Amino acid sequence: MARAAARARRPVDEVTLVAVSKTFPADSIRAAYEVGLRHFGENRVQEFEAKRPALLDLEATWHFIGHLQRNKARRAAQVFHRIDGVDSLALAQALESEAVARERRLPALIEVHVSEEPSKTGISQENLASLAEAIGGFSNLKLRGLMGIPPYFDDPERARPFFRKLRELRDELSRRLGTPLPVLSMGMSHDFEIAIEEGATEVRIGTAIFGERPRAQV
Ligand SMILES: *Cc1c(COP(=O)(O)O)cnc(C)c1O
Repeated sequence: MARAAARARRPVDEVTLVAVSKTFPADSIRAAYEVGLRHFGENRVQEFEAKRPALLDLEATWHFIGHLQRNKARRAAQVFHRIDGVDSLALAQALESEAVARERRLPALIEVHVSEEPSKTGISQENLASLAEAIGGFSNLKLRGLMGIPPYFDDPERARPFFRKLRELRDELSRRLGTPLPVLSMGMSHDFEIAIEEGATEVRIGTAIFGERPRAQV
């Protein structure tokens, strides 16, 4: 991360490391916390609910990353500090009403579909502005920025245009809404250096920290 930031002439402390701990047990998360990590990403509500009781003493920020089913929005809003992956108005509304009911502010990122593959989640680029404007009218769900996942390339350099695109979308959206959108969550284990060069303020790293996950649960 430091090398990539230096290449881009950016201070490395501008980039937050979100340790993606999905599939790994609470002990692994605690070990990562003990060496200084403070942000963790999980992508299954039920899995995190099971690990959470063993981690309540940690002063960490818990991110839900990726696609969240609308029927899990309520529970997600209870155990996560930020939802990184809002990709529909229905989900945004469900999160907003839970945040209102609990009288808490819930920061969120919109996940934008930047790859060409139809299977990946995220709101389309055409529908991004209207979703962001709708969230702008909410009282408790607060839009902080964008997240995106480029296609997988053996050569991570080829992901660069997708990262650049996401940054441009964020800049345009911020101008359009007249509000800062400071967070750009992009880059995973194999391509985070390119993402940092292209302006990522958060990278989501699993494998490079915790090792390989069981194959079924990528
Ligand atoms: C699993 C996951 C990651 C981490 O991927 P690695 O390649 O293991 O670093 C990052 N972001 C999301 C949304 C994920 O689901």
